[in-house]
Amino acid sequence: MAIRKKLLLKVIILGESGVGKTSLMNQFVNRKFSKDYKATIGADFLTKEVVVDDKIVTLQIWDTAGQERFQSLGVAFYRGADCCVLVYDVNNSKSYESLDSWRDEFLIQASPNNPETFPFILIGNKVDVEEQKRMVSKAKALAFCQAKGDIPYYETSAKDAINVQEAFEAVARLALANADEDDVTNDFTDPVHLELETQKASCSC
Ligand code: GDP
Ligand code: MG
Repeated sequence: MAIRKKLLLKVIILGESGVGKTSLMNQFVNRKFSKDYKATIGADFLTKEVVVDDKIVTLQIWDTAGQERFQSLGVAFYRGADCCVLVYDVNNSKSYESLDSWRDEFLIQASPNNPETFPFILIGNKVDVEEQKRMVSKAKALAFCQAKGDIPYYETSAKDAINVQEAFEAVARLALANADEDDVTNDFTDPVHLELETQKASCSC
């Protein structure tokens, strides 16, 4: 009897308040967008199963509950992350300029083994907004990515569901490439395994 092993990958989403982090996560996981501003979704993370190169992986996506305004997310938020998604709003220069400090904060708090090669991905969100309002060019965003070791870049709209699935597919791929044995868990939903667990629990010896 083989216990099925499951890959659980932790992804965290960082960036200035209001750039659309919660909306991106909601669009990816629930395929929904809500106009009402909600600082928190009331949960630490959402999970979604994705298939990458014939492997089923569970992405555990951690969003902030609005504490990013105070840059005080606590070490549990960062601990064990397999990929970090940096988000800015293409219509807001300040959110682009703060990317460096979010990246630095991540590297300090998560202290990954190899900071130079840790997988980051950049998302420029809200591309649905009219062109005249755009403040950060694609070239500028790509310059940031190049300076950080050629990290991938996606332009998205959580509102109109543009490129969101594609961006998270890239996230899953990067996280999987960075996975280690800490990310492998026994799948307790496996029926054979569950049955054995039950037998063990009811055994009086
Ligand atoms: P967070 O603070 O980074 O989690 O940002 P939210 O997801 O709460 O979004 C902040 C605001 O931007 C909300 O009013 C959203 O409805 C809006 N928003 C999020 N994504 C988009 C998008 O792709 N396009 C537009 N036009 N608005 C968005
Ligand atoms: Mg949020």
